Amino acid sequence: MKHSLTTFFFFIFFTSIAQTNSTQNKVTTTPARPKLVVGLMIDHMRWDYLYRYQNRYSPNGFNRLLQQGFNCQNTIIPYTPTATSCGHASVYTGSVPAINGIASNNWWDMKEQKYVYCCDDKTVVGVGSNTKKGKMSPKNMVTNTITDELRLATNFKSKVIGISMKDRGAIFPAGHAANAAYWYDEEKGIFISSTYYMNELPQWVNDFNAKKWADKYYAEGWQTLYPLATYTMSQKDDNAYERTKEMPNDKPVFPYNFSASIGTDYKKFWNMPQANTYTFEMAKAAIAAEKMGKNNTTDFLTISISPTDYIAHNFGPNAIETEDTYLRLDKDIAAFLTYLDNTIGKGEYLFFLTADHGGPHTAGFLQEHKLPGGSFELKQIVKDLNESIAQNFGVKKAIAYQTYYNISLNYTSIDSANADAEKIKQYIIQTLENTTGIYKAVDKSKLSTANIPTVIKERLINGNFPNRSGDIQVIPLPQWMRDTPKGTDHSVWNAYDAHIPLVWYGWGIKKGSTHRETYITDIAATLAALLTIQMPNGCIGHVITEVIK
Ligand SMILES: [Zn+2]
Repeated sequence: MKHSLTTFFFFIFFTSIAQTNSTQNKVTTTPARPKLVVGLMIDHMRWDYLYRYQNRYSPNGFNRLLQQGFNCQNTIIPYTPTATSCGHASVYTGSVPAINGIASNNWWDMKEQKYVYCCDDKTVVGVGSNTKKGKMSPKNMVTNTITDELRLATNFKSKVIGISMKDRGAIFPAGHAANAAYWYDEEKGIFISSTYYMNELPQWVNDFNAKKWADKYYAEGWQTLYPLATYTMSQKDDNAYERTKEMPNDKPVFPYNFSASIGTDYKKFWNMPQANTYTFEMAKAAIAAEKMGKNNTTDFLTISISPTDYIAHNFGPNAIETEDTYLRLDKDIAAFLTYLDNTIGKGEYLFFLTADHGGPHTAGFLQEHKLPGGSFELKQIVKDLNESIAQNFGVKKAIAYQTYYNISLNYTSIDSANADAEKIKQYIIQTLENTTGIYKAVDKSKLSTANIPTVIKERLINGNFPNRSGDIQVIPLPQWMRDTPKGTDHSVWNAYDAHIPLVWYGWGIKKGSTHRETYITDIAATLAALLTIQMPNGCIGHVITEVIK
């Protein structure tokens, strides 16, 4: 009896040692990771939208993230242009355009002397559509992403899918080694992909597209969620400084009746807040059909909400249209978080919300309230400059391209006229600096010695990729915009464009907030730390240690 009791205790002792060892082995060989990571980017979301409409947000949307998650209150974009492609690439590469190569939404290739769109890839074709919208891939992004690093770390067992109506909002976040990226083809009114990722759309995407979402929401139209008089954070509904590009009404007033577009025009859908809901529906369909978060490895879903940018460009931050869009978006976020709770499990997913850039006030609104700012006609200035350069220097179309305050010279034309490029540059700079609303114009080849504040200089250098960033940088005065007498723009260094929301929630995340200055480039570094994987190969960000439990 005594003997067998001793044996029994020995058995218990060794079994528990064996169990301890196996638990330890498990911990050291397999870092703890969430089932699913969801990165949510809201295109053109100013930081202050977290608070501007807060008392009307539900407890389950933005407020759930703010109250139960970690809020990096002072997250800055440390480069210009603060544009969509750059923002999406920066969040996921943890880097800046000068390193990851995504220097703008479109650029003039100075070596090849030709126009390039950031996602252009002539070697691929559309899947689900044969329009030009399908010829897209991440090939112009020269570094990898945190989503690529997750694929590498798990020997490609993790599933990575990118979803956004904008191609660049889906493609750059999902990275080079993604399983799929899906974006909206406005000619067809459906989500498509390209042969970079697959040869045919999965059945679930065809089923999703067959539901004709745009037509359904066109039939619904856009009325405000609540009575107009209750929109107390906005100006009156009808304003001369709001524009109605691709909207069904001539005047910027509710209600908007989209019924004439049913079955005919899928371009207007970009401007409906219901297109945000549509994007979340696509995300839910992907999670369900691809069994994301149900595999044995961590999956990563990147979502970017694009209609917020279109609506912002038309109406600006002080319009009922914008207020209503964010109240509706809050409901979409609440519903999506509940969906994740139910399918993945509360505390089992890691979630973050951020933006690619913010946006300024409209010029007319500022003038009405005696605040500084305005719009200058950069397109016309460039046109006039090309004419005067032709007369004075004998060069035809010396300025090849202008985008986001970057001016690219046509060297083929300058060289064939045997003209002095330096003199032409100086002539352009002087003309620009004599324009109301322009603070400085800078020769990009002499950025490091330019007589401008260090903070602006650093952001320009961070945004300057060889052969993709033009020859002359225009720096507007604060709140001055190019060619935007109505509506808004973005892309400059100022806080309204460069200060973005960043809120973390869920698996591995502490409750709290910080006012310490953090950067868009820190997001990928922090994700790498949370997931115990390598940082992306061009990452310059630092881990936001306060966030981690
Ligand atoms: Zn925009």
